[in-house]
Amino acid sequence: MPEHAGVIAAALASKRLLSEASQTWELSFTCSEPLTYQPGQFYSFVTERDGKQEVRAYSLTQAPDGDRMVLCLNRAGWYSNLLCDLKAGETVHVQGPYGGFVLHEGPGIILADGVGIAPVAAMVDALLRAQRNAGSLHLLHTASSESELFYRDRFERAEREITGFRYLPLPGVELAPRLEEILSQAGGEKPTAYIVGLNAFAAPLRQWLKDRGWDRKQIVFERYD
Ligand SMILES: Cc1cc2nc3c(=O)[nH]c(=O)nc-3n(C[C@H](O)[C@H](O)[C@H](O)COP(=O)(O)OP(=O)(O)OC[C@H]3O[C@@H](n4cnc5c(N)ncnc54)[C@H](O)[C@@H]3O)c2cc1C
Repeated sequence: MPEHAGVIAAALASKRLLSEASQTWELSFTCSEPLTYQPGQFYSFVTERDGKQEVRAYSLTQAPDGDRMVLCLNRAGWYSNLLCDLKAGETVHVQGPYGGFVLHEGPGIILADGVGIAPVAAMVDALLRAQRNAGSLHLLHTASSESELFYRDRFERAEREITGFRYLPLPGVELAPRLEEILSQAGGEKPTAYIVGLNAFAAPLRQWLKDRGWDRKQIVFERYD
């Protein structure tokens, strides 16, 4: 792809397999310029396939850190396989940042499934770096198994160090009863709901909240597919 304004080259620095079962990888890149974004945002990966432009979005998993870019992704199909198969030094091209999946003021409840935890990892990295009070922020992370509770150490550390931050890992556990419990403790107050993951996870949850009186503006929503 030709280099032009707005396109950033990202060279793979390192990669590691986070879960064999879900084929989830963490990839670290060194970019051609420092990245400026809000924790929770994503970059578009732009490439060509059979002469046609293809774009895939990936959330960044850390607070801004100069020219470093870290992703957490599943091998799901054509482009994600290509990314996971990159060798150190190989380059891809990205544009961004994009997206409104960022923390708002006031109490919040984050509902993430599987690799949907990627943008949340960036938000919590930022809280940890700033050692900022989170007000009241609950994170509920559902996953098929313990091995898919990515960034668990980071969230447990945040629970110890960041006032108001609560982490509930839910491996193979149904979300709705825990959600009901937390919301009932909020005593009728409606925290901002942050929902992220595949549509099969995210869309029913959004509807669940709307049915209980959440306004569209109180739901920060990001679907991967
Ligand atoms: C705003 C945004 C942020 C995203 N951030 C991430 C991220 O941080 N990590 C990440 O893994 N993906 C993320 N995605 C999904 C990513 O952009 C691609 O859609 C995904 O990697 C599949 O592309 P592909 O070419 O490999 O497969 P395709 O051939 O395009 O799709 C194959 C199938 O994979 C499904 N799929 C899409 N995403 C996933 C997934 N994550 N896990 C399992 N199945 C999936 C699709 O429904 C489709 O059926 C994000 C998408 C959006 C819109």
